[in-house]
Amino acid sequence: MSPFIVFWVPALVRMLVVFFGALTVGYLFGEFWFATVVILGLVLLIGLQLHYLYHLSRWLDKPDSSRLPDGWGAWTEIFSRLYRMRREDEKNQTELSEWLTRFRQAMTLLPDGVVIMDDVLFLEWCNPVAEQHLGLHMGKDKGMRITNLVRSPEFMDYIILGRFDKPLIISHRDRKLIAHIIQFENRRQILVTHDITENERIDMMRRDFIANASHELRTPLTVINGFLEISAMQPDLDSKTRAAHMKLMIEQGHRMQGLVEDMLTLTRLESVDFPVRPEHVNMSQMLEQIVAEMEGLSIGKHTLNLINLGPDVMGSQDELRSAFGNLVSNAVRYTPTGGEITISWTDSAQGPKFTVRDSGIGIRAEHISRLTERFYRVDKSRSRETQGTGLGLAIVKHVALRHKAQLTIESTPGVGSSFSIQFPAIAAISRQLS
Ligand code: ADP
Repeated sequence: MSPFIVFWVPALVRMLVVFFGALTVGYLFGEFWFATVVILGLVLLIGLQLHYLYHLSRWLDKPDSSRLPDGWGAWTEIFSRLYRMRREDEKNQTELSEWLTRFRQAMTLLPDGVVIMDDVLFLEWCNPVAEQHLGLHMGKDKGMRITNLVRSPEFMDYIILGRFDKPLIISHRDRKLIAHIIQFENRRQILVTHDITENERIDMMRRDFIANASHELRTPLTVINGFLEISAMQPDLDSKTRAAHMKLMIEQGHRMQGLVEDMLTLTRLESVDFPVRPEHVNMSQMLEQIVAEMEGLSIGKHTLNLINLGPDVMGSQDELRSAFGNLVSNAVRYTPTGGEITISWTDSAQGPKFTVRDSGIGIRAEHISRLTERFYRVDKSRSRETQGTGLGLAIVKHVALRHKAQLTIESTPGVGSSFSIQFPAIAAISRQLS
């Protein structure tokens, strides 16, 4: 119904009632009474309107703590409408605050940082990931300009140039981030940050790996090519020199083959699509084979001991063979003639443990944490002389990781080294705790 009908019609009717009521009274009791009653009637009406206006203004000031009267005439309709509007408003407010809570929760769970800023880049809100990425603190930094909080020259340039159609890659607090500013609502801007530190690290590792692998392959290839060229240019080379060249070429060929095999092994071990298929590994048999191989490598130059007290295990036979073989061959290669090498396979409450101890050249402390990096060598020439690929310990580390085992390296320069792989107790099959 239109407000005119709701409000003015009853008001006019009431005024007419008062007027004609007063007219009747005046007619019955003479003119003086007539005037008095009209005035009294109007005063009563105005008083009533003021009374309701007073309640209305009080209610508008404090809608939660005051109540509206039931009202009379048109006021009843106005008050009930106001109540209805208020109820709807409360419902909307509740829904809105629920949405806000849900929105904040979703923002908190996002893997990316989100910063909401006003049109002049003053911080209004940010999620915890943005706090981590950019070193912000919602409590302290709210209301501050983002350029005062993120002090990176590339970020400053990005803001100054204002080319927000493209994201920006910034280095900030040891992280590599993709930052993107998106404008919305004309008066607000969102900064979204995505951490690419790990991707960058993997990319860098990949690039390093390719560079190192190419470098490693280049030397034997150069040697082989050199001898082949000599052979082509000097067809009547004496057979003794030719045989010496052939021997060197075969050695370099083996070196390349070893390198390619180790690279393939590493790639397979790192592949997530290639999980360990556990099988029963007969440890006594494997240790005997390893010792036989070790004797072949050592050719009587070292004293070799085997202590076999551990159980059989569940694991990948080929991988364990490769890891143990690498550790043992390192011990032989880095222990001078006359040294002693002990392989022990034991068991304890923590689980079975494989240890190779040698009395070799040892390793300085600063190298130990880097030994399992691909192509890391303490002494490059010694490694090459002994046919090392620089990938052996990287393979050992991956095999240990895949078997949930822990590789520990202890070494004293000039005294010797000890490399052990501690397996979890669950890996053991028939336990004989020592
Ligand atoms: P490499 O093929 O060069 O031996 P590894 O990854 O097996 O590569 O070993 C990395 C480096 O660790 C070696 O180059 C060597 O300097 C050092 N190293 C490994 N094992 C021993 C050991 N038993 N004694 C001394 N140094 C060792």
